[in-house]
Amino acid sequence: MEKREQLYEGKAKKVYKTDDPGLVIVSYKDDATAFNGQKKGQIAGKGVVNNTMSNIIFQMLEQRGVPTHYVQQLNERETLVKAVKILPLEVIIRNVAAGSFSKRYGVEEGRPLARTVLEFSYKNDELGDPLINDDHILALELATEEQLRQVKDYAYAVNEGLKGFFLERGLKLVDFKIEFGLWDGKVILADEISPDTCRLWDVNTNEKMDKDRFRRDLGKVEETYQEVFQRVQS
Ligand code: UDP
Repeated sequence: MEKREQLYEGKAKKVYKTDDPGLVIVSYKDDATAFNGQKKGQIAGKGVVNNTMSNIIFQMLEQRGVPTHYVQQLNERETLVKAVKILPLEVIIRNVAAGSFSKRYGVEEGRPLARTVLEFSYKNDELGDPLINDDHILALELATEEQLRQVKDYAYAVNEGLKGFFLERGLKLVDFKIEFGLWDGKVILADEISPDTCRLWDVNTNEKMDKDRFRRDLGKVEETYQEVFQRVQS
């Protein structure tokens, strides 16, 4: 597989063409941003952690029947994936109140939710990724009814897979964000699943083991990414 020109550079990843139009290479950076790009920094080793961790998780999810963009890890930071058209939706699943949910509804972080919550944000940096519902999505033609149903089914299935996976590793899955793409007309899981996109709390101490250490200046940022990486590989 030959790496060709760069197609795109985002906040945490670069994407390159390959000699196969159906495949691209994603390259994970150590760059970190928060609050819609207002806070910027670097987390040494993050690219390696997020690349490898996402691949381990995507393979686990494939085994549970969730199709993903994963094809093959090429090196520490780079992975060959299916070239998808990303649906402009951030799909957020919450098991425990935290972050913007706690703020918006005035509930204490850490309060368990009486049911799983699925939220959508419209993926649009200029608008600050506003919250959006099913009617908005269909009215704006961001996805079809069939795609929307598929996205939700897969999102709940991802939650079930991830909750067990992390719990076995001493981590409580508080919430996470995923993205889907269209490949060959079908909805598949794309982007990444990592401490950048999940809230993970140590089951014994409730210590935050995710990007909130960077967002909230809690210290031990690099060490925490390495600790999660160790646990995920075990
Ligand atoms: N999240 C993300 N990217 C975003 C926004 C949120 O990966 O652009 C993740 C975040 O890490 C958390 C979950 O989605 O695991 C829910 O985030 P929330 O809506 O609470 O927003 P935040 O408090 O991070 O602004």
